[in-house]
Amino acid sequence: MTPLAPGSTIGILGGGQLGRMLGIAAAQLGYRTEILAPDEEAVAAQTASSFIRADYQSRIVLDDFAHSANVVTFEFENIAVDPVTYLATKVAVHPSPAALAIAQDRAKEKQFADDLGGRTAPWARVESLEDLQAAIATIGTPAILKTLRLGYDGKGQVQLHSADEAESAWAAIGARPAILEGVVPFTHEFSIILARGQDGAMVSYPPPWNEHRDGILARSTLPAPAEIAVHWAEAATLTGRIADRLGYVGVLTCEFFATPDGPVFNEMAPRVHNSGHWTIEGAVTSQFENHIRAICGLPLGDTGITARRIEMQNLIGSEAENWHAALLEPDAHLHLYGKQQRPGRKMGHVTRLVR
Ligand code: AMP
Repeated sequence: MTPLAPGSTIGILGGGQLGRMLGIAAAQLGYRTEILAPDEEAVAAQTASSFIRADYQSRIVLDDFAHSANVVTFEFENIAVDPVTYLATKVAVHPSPAALAIAQDRAKEKQFADDLGGRTAPWARVESLEDLQAAIATIGTPAILKTLRLGYDGKGQVQLHSADEAESAWAAIGARPAILEGVVPFTHEFSIILARGQDGAMVSYPPPWNEHRDGILARSTLPAPAEIAVHWAEAATLTGRIADRLGYVGVLTCEFFATPDGPVFNEMAPRVHNSGHWTIEGAVTSQFENHIRAICGLPLGDTGITARRIEMQNLIGSEAENWHAALLEPDAHLHLYGKQQRPGRKMGHVTRLVR
């Protein structure tokens, strides 16, 4: 493992706030960052050393990007796998395209967790209305129909309360390949955020309690309540097994439901995660820094917490208009992403520490 020397360039695919915060962490460690994204408003470009505004499909652009970067990573998981695989033939890419492909497919990620001894909701892959009806007969209702791909923040999914709703649910998700999942009677939601280095070393953060509103993360709180804390070790072990099996390098996030029977794996994200934003001030080393350390072959940093209580609140849509109020709170840390305001859009977050 030869560490990437400070001054080297990290290529980041994607132009959102995660890339923005990765860029800030990379700059702190002396690296340059280059963003490749098609977005007119690529907020990651505002904190990067350079920006190529182009789509991900042009080989000429990818060749140029691979040539200028010493290592490449991505900040969102809905990027097509093809360009990432192509880049991996020219330059080191972390996490690997294989990890990305699994995380993009709800059936593959559930199967992966099942195969490693994880607990998942009862689920079945469905490709037609007949498949859906058969799956409802086995799994029962209430259940949730989720498109196999391109779902995030509760998008591309619909809840079924009875078998009569099969047809309307199938139409609602656009008759696309999907999975049907039994509704898990959870008490809390939480996530395990883990970093794995090129040498296989792993560190993970204490799990935050994640509360969602309208399918979007609203708040993450630490320390998590006892209903989550009892599942910490089991959930972290599964996440570590997933990372090891994939030969994963970088930050990996797995989301879980806390139930009286144990932690239920919901999904994985092959990247830094919104439920880990609190680590910027609330942990000794942030998730962004640990991702940069991992992909650059550096030793991983301490994941211990820096306060007795930590709360990260997302600023969604018009909530960001109150940004000024957060500055008047002594232990609040305001982060704004520089985005144009739209309803339902993650505009920023505030992390509050109780020392
Ligand atoms: P996902 O897109 O899978 O992260 O789902 C978005 C949110 O929907 C989750 O954070 C949960 O609040 C809820 N949800 C998803 N799947 C289930 C399930 N099988 N049982 C209960 N709630 C679920």
